Amino acid sequence: MRLTTGIVVLASVLAVSSVPTKSSEPSKRATCSKGRTSALQECCVWFDVLDDIQENLFDGGACNEEVHELTFHDAIGFSPFGLGADGSIMHHSDIETNFPANNGVDEIIELQRPIAIKHGVSFGDFIQFAGAAGITNCPGAPSLEFMAGRFNFSFASPEGLVPEPADSVTKILLRFLDAGFSPNEVVDLLASHTIAAQDHVDPTINVSTLDTLLTGTAFPGNGSQTGEVLSPLAGELRLQSDFAIARDSRTACEWQSFVTDHTAMTTKFRAAMSKLATLGQIRDLLYDCSDVIPKSVPLTKGPSLPAGKKMSDIQAACKATPFPTLTADPGPATSVAPVPP
Ligand code: CA
Repeated sequence: MRLTTGIVVLASVLAVSSVPTKSSEPSKRATCSKGRTSALQECCVWFDVLDDIQENLFDGGACNEEVHELTFHDAIGFSPFGLGADGSIMHHSDIETNFPANNGVDEIIELQRPIAIKHGVSFGDFIQFAGAAGITNCPGAPSLEFMAGRFNFSFASPEGLVPEPADSVTKILLRFLDAGFSPNEVVDLLASHTIAAQDHVDPTINVSTLDTLLTGTAFPGNGSQTGEVLSPLAGELRLQSDFAIARDSRTACEWQSFVTDHTAMTTKFRAAMSKLATLGQIRDLLYDCSDVIPKSVPLTKGPSLPAGKKMSDIQAACKATPFPTLTADPGPATSVAPVPP
């Protein structure tokens, strides 16, 4: 069910009136609900939002890529007339979810909107907070920065700004360049696809940027869909854009560097996400509530090939650096459980 524009506008006004101002008292920590503390009193509301979404959006704390993806769909609507990470996709969902590139995000928006209104926080803040909290539930993800204080007002983004999996690498890189991201930073952002892929698999399986470089052998579902290419693992869906960016000369070396350096990947992913989450915002007008974001769960396993795979299955594309030698996990060929419908 979609709320009428009138109700949304009213909710926006109400939420704006409760957006806190910057604190000038950094020395003493504020005590929030359940004895938790934050550097800023204004951040306390986010602990209550966190409890609510862990229970009602993430089934008690599950890794959630879908919610994280929404941060991107809102933020990348920037240039030259859209206003980035401003909540526009929620304020103007009647317009923006009709864009083909935003196909499917309406459901998660309708789930999130009432929670944002209930807690009196702005839509732009809520989308970024939910995304940061959702991905931090994924093993191996970094604890992302969360800046609060976006106004609860936005204009609808124009169509055509959200890259799609079927787009060419050049088209995707140009769109990101227009929004201020270098080709390497695009790779850094795409790390979310492999980090959050942990959502759908056996936690003992190490899904990584490496998987994207394996030779594709099958489709997980009913044959090829638009934007999908052959996957190396039974049950895994592979996006055409991930496949192509992992092999493109402009981005292959950054991609390959993450195969054995998880720390570099998470550090760069965090930095790129900080940039995405504040796209179109003035950072000095925001305040830092990162201490509300849960600590992430570290990976317990180093890089390896999935069981049943060989080094010759890797399509290495970085000319400058040799591909590291990896051994395969023991056991039968790895498969990935299908994503529930
Ligand atoms: Ca937006």
